Amino acid sequence: MAVPAALIAGIKAAVGPRGWSDDPAVVAPHLKERRGLYAGATPILVRPTTTAEVAAVVRLCAAHRTPVVPQGGNTGLVGGQVPDASGEEVLVALARLNRVRAIDPTNDTIIVEAGCVLRHVQEAAAAADRLFPLSLGAEGSCQIGGNIATNAGGVSVLRYGSARDLVLGLEVVLPDGRVWDGLRTLRKDNTGYDLKQLFIGGEGTLGIITAAALKLFPRPRQVATALAVVPDPAAGLEILTALKSATGNLVNACELIARPALEFVLRHIPGTTDPFPARHGWYLLLEVSSAAEGHWLRAALERVLAAEHEAGRLTDAVIATSTAQARALWRLRETIPEAEIQEGGGIKHDIAVPVSRVPEFIVQATAAVEVAQPGIRVIAFGHLGDGNIHFNLVRPPGADATTFLAEWDHFSAIVHGVAAALGGSISAEHGLGRLKREEIRAYKPAVEIELMRRVKAALDPDNLMNPGKLV
Ligand code: FAD
Ligand code: ZN
Repeated sequence: MAVPAALIAGIKAAVGPRGWSDDPAVVAPHLKERRGLYAGATPILVRPTTTAEVAAVVRLCAAHRTPVVPQGGNTGLVGGQVPDASGEEVLVALARLNRVRAIDPTNDTIIVEAGCVLRHVQEAAAAADRLFPLSLGAEGSCQIGGNIATNAGGVSVLRYGSARDLVLGLEVVLPDGRVWDGLRTLRKDNTGYDLKQLFIGGEGTLGIITAAALKLFPRPRQVATALAVVPDPAAGLEILTALKSATGNLVNACELIARPALEFVLRHIPGTTDPFPARHGWYLLLEVSSAAEGHWLRAALERVLAAEHEAGRLTDAVIATSTAQARALWRLRETIPEAEIQEGGGIKHDIAVPVSRVPEFIVQATAAVEVAQPGIRVIAFGHLGDGNIHFNLVRPPGADATTFLAEWDHFSAIVHGVAAALGGSISAEHGLGRLKREEIRAYKPAVEIELMRRVKAALDPDNLMNPGKLV
């Protein structure tokens, strides 16, 4: 059913002239996600600036039984933030709901509105001599509301956990337009079901997050970053274990990069150079940090790398000697997704297995896809320390991109099958969205799917909040 004119008029009145747009030039970028897998339509893009405005809009939509799609920075990778093609959904973008409401360095908490860009949250914390550790390649454009709705992971999960571990409280506009004020800044609160957990990773299907109370940490005063050449992922895990012990668990990041991924970066990303004179199969990006003053952490990293070299578990390594050099090493990792797009795009996977089983996963999955299509290029990279690998597949050189991408489901079944057999997950950090909503049914117990549906039905009986996503 088309969005009723009375609803459109009501929304316009509720948010004022700057709070909405139907100008195609303004709306268009919000209707597709970056890889172009999904494109949608909407008669109105709503851009509220307060929780009360969000609530008013959702209340009106509920009264007219019109679906609502929440959107943050539109960097999501599973199509959850894009309306469907019917033109019957109202798109609510949170970008203008972007104030830092409070920061309490003693309580180590910050309260921010959902539309705050992740980097701004990090900067606000740093200005108070604190760290907000969530960090991912899209941090300059993704929003904290989107990060929480997707339970984003990123490159510091190893040390600080994913978005879920960093949230103390939430303010949420429910599908009927009521506001749930759960914006508590308590470290301990055992008063029944932990309802905020439903909205974290809920991908906007249970309500619109409007604000969050987040945990802060002491700001690092020494950081050391290294890129090591390892013979295989198993050696990488042994190095990680040694480094954790030697530093007293101060490892922030342990990222794996396969040679083909680095090659794409060197080919497509301006200003990148190979830090090593020779080509190698596998690289390990390591970062350690401490809030204590001094330079001893770098020395500890050097000692561990030297010992691992001695033991044959690494063949070469560079340790950054400046912040600029550390940034350059990180850039080699963070621009892989961009380089992959420039190479013509690939079939993406975001699997998790128990950390100890990553090496097996990579061996088995690589063998399986190579049998399915000889010459296929495996772009394996990601969060080795979390057991989370982005196992992406790019067509053989010279093969037709469209024909290859049409085999997405076929290759996903192969890769996900290997992950599942090792006790893994088909979505470690990106969520289900539209991309994996159906597929997940093959991997989760029927009871679990049924419980998820019941939760959805309890909170959103008319299925108006981001329908067609996740469940
Ligand atoms: P959007 O894409 O706008 O939305 C994502 C989902 O959240 C949608 O379902 C949407 O409806 C919902 N949503 C958004 N805002 C709200 C809200 N306020 N209330 C309720 N629901 C809401 N992800 C990782 O986990 N780890 C990574 O390392 C990582 N790296 C990335 C690197 C690049 C280059 C890119 C492009 C993406 C990467 N991502 C990564 C994926 C993406 O950045 C994350 O999923 C991010 O958390 C999405 O935030 P967003 O604000 O862009 O949300
Ligand atoms: Zn990732």
